[in-house]
Amino acid sequence: MATEPNTKTSTPTESALVDGSELAGRALAAAGASHMFGVVGIPVTAVATRAVAAGVRFIAFHNEQSAGYAASAYGYLTGRPGVLLTVSGPGCVHGLAGLSNAWVNTWPMVMISGSCDQADFGKGDFQELDQIAAVKPFVKLALKATSISEIPRLVQTAFATACAGRPGGCYIDLPADVLHQTISETEASSLLSEAANPIPPQIPDPEIAEVEKAVSLLRHAARPLIVFGKGAAYARAEGAVKKFVETTGIPFLPTPMGKGLLPDTHELAATAARSLAIGKCDVALVVGARLNWLLHFGEPPRWSNDVKFILVDVSKEEIELRKPHVGLVGDAKRVLDLINREIKDDPFCLGKTHPWVEAISKKAKDNVAKMDAQLAKEVVPFNFLTPMRIIRDAISAQGSPAPILVSEGANTMDVGRAVLVQSEPRTRLDAGTWGTMGVGLGYCIAAAIAEPNRLVVAVEGDSGFGFSAMEVETLVRYQLPVVVIVFNNGGVYGGDRRTPEEVTGPHKDDPAPTSFVPGAAYHTLMEAFGGKGYRASTPDELKSALSESFSARKPAVINLIIDPYAGAESGRLQHKN
Ligand code: ADP
Repeated sequence: MATEPNTKTSTPTESALVDGSELAGRALAAAGASHMFGVVGIPVTAVATRAVAAGVRFIAFHNEQSAGYAASAYGYLTGRPGVLLTVSGPGCVHGLAGLSNAWVNTWPMVMISGSCDQADFGKGDFQELDQIAAVKPFVKLALKATSISEIPRLVQTAFATACAGRPGGCYIDLPADVLHQTISETEASSLLSEAANPIPPQIPDPEIAEVEKAVSLLRHAARPLIVFGKGAAYARAEGAVKKFVETTGIPFLPTPMGKGLLPDTHELAATAARSLAIGKCDVALVVGARLNWLLHFGEPPRWSNDVKFILVDVSKEEIELRKPHVGLVGDAKRVLDLINREIKDDPFCLGKTHPWVEAISKKAKDNVAKMDAQLAKEVVPFNFLTPMRIIRDAISAQGSPAPILVSEGANTMDVGRAVLVQSEPRTRLDAGTWGTMGVGLGYCIAAAIAEPNRLVVAVEGDSGFGFSAMEVETLVRYQLPVVVIVFNNGGVYGGDRRTPEEVTGPHKDDPAPTSFVPGAAYHTLMEAFGGKGYRASTPDELKSALSESFSARKPAVINLIIDPYAGAESGRLQHKN
C-alpha cells in the first residue's frame, strides 16, 4: 500500500537539540580556546566532553588548584586566556587558587564552574555556594548564565575582558539547570555567530609629550637604568627592549620573570650588580613591573632618595598608585617603540667607558667571579650550589629553543634565580608576585602544553613539590616532556632547626613543624605511574640523570638528595618570618 509522504519530517539539522553543555563547549571553541584545564564532575563533565568534541583539548588534573595554576600560566605564556573548568562548591573554592594567581600576577584567565540548580539555591543543595560572591575579590568580571541562550555571549565577553587592558581573571557560572536546557541547532548556530568576533580592545598610546619628557630625562641622566618585568614579557616587548638597550647603552635589570627578555649573559646586564644598580641609579625606566616588595617599593634605603621613575604600565591605576616622575600608560611594546622612535631622531649612547656602565660592569664581573668560585667547589653531600651549577650547565647545553624553567621553593628558588641562566623570553615561571608555593606542577603542565617545542625543567624544593606531587600522574598520562628536579632536604627550609630550648612541651617528640620524612623516595612516585625516576646524591649520578632525562623528553622526577642543613630558614626572606 502506498503511503503519503511525511511532510512533517524535518531535516536532522533543524530537529537536533543542543543542550547547555554542548553550547558551552562550542562557545569556548568559537572564542578561540584551544585548551582547557580542569577537573570534571557534577554538573560539568559533559561541558568537558562537548568541548573536546568541538576541538578544545581538555587536560584533566587531580586537583583544581593545580589546574588553575596551569590555566593562569597558560594565559601568560600564550597571551590568550587560560581556561579552568571546575565543579560547583568545593571545586570552585579550589579553583580560587588559580583565579587569585591570575589576578595577582595580572595574567588572563577564564574560570568556568558548574553550580547548583537555580531553583534549589538557598535550600542546601549539593555543593551549593554563592560562587559569584566567592570569586568577586579576584576577578575583573563575574558572570552567571541564567538561561542557555546567554552562554555564547558570556563566554565571548569573559574572553575579551580577561585580555583587555591589565590582564586578569574572569568567571562564568553555569548552573546545572542551564546546562540541561536545550535549544534548536538553528538557534544555537545563530547565538554562536552573533556572539563571535568582538572588536579586539585597543590600548591607547600615551601622550607624545610624555614620551618626549621620558626620553629627555633618560638622555640627561648620569646613571640611567631600565628595569623590566613580566608585564613587558607578556607584551612581547623583547625586540623593543633589545633595541632600546643596544642603542642607548643603558644597563638593564630584569625582575625574576623578566629574565630572558635579554640574555642574562648580555654585557649590559646589571643582575649581578643589582644593589649598586638600584641603589645608585638617578633615572629608572620601569617597564611592566610593579614597584612592589620585589622592587623594594621603589623607596630608600634600597633606592636612592632622589631617583626619578619613569613607569610604563598598561594600568592607569598602577601608575597613579606609584606617582612616578613620568607615567606612560600603554602597552609595553608599543610604548618602547615610541621611546625608540623618539630617541632615533636624536640618538645618544653611554658607551662602554661611561663611568656608570663601567661601575656596573665591574661590580657585576666581581660578583660573578665570587659566585663562580663558590660554584666551582664540588660539595658532597650536596649543598644548593654544586647541583645548581650542574643543572645550569645541562640546561644551557640544550641551546635554542631554550627549556622553560619552572622554579619554586625558598632556598632552591633563590639560589636558582642567581645561578640558572635565562636566554630567551618567557622561559622562567616562578612563585611570582605572591611567592606562591605549589604552582610548580601546574606550571610545568601549562608550559609543556603551551610551548610543545620546548623541554620543561622544574627546579623545586621538596616542600613546593609536595603541594601538587600527584600531578606527576598527569605528566605521564599526557606524556609531557617535563623533568622535575626535587631538591630533597627533608623539609620546609630543611631539617629540624629548633634550638634545644624550643624543643619542649607535651608534643616535643613530634616531628618539627619544618620536617618531612627524611630521605623520602620522591622518584618512586613517578615510577608508580610508569614515568622515569632517578635518585641522585653525587655529581655523577646527577649528570647522568640529567643527560638521560633531557634527551628522552619524557616525564621524569630526579630526587636530588641534599644536606638538610644547607639552606637558611625562609631563604632570603628571613626578615619576613
Ligand atoms: P614583576 O613581577 O616582573 O615585577 P609585576 O607583576 O609586578 O611584574 O608587574 C607587571 C605589570 O605589568 C603589571 O602592573 C601589569 O599591569 C603590567 N602589564 C601587563 N600587561 C602589560 C602590557 N601589555 N604592557 C604594559 N604593562 C603591562
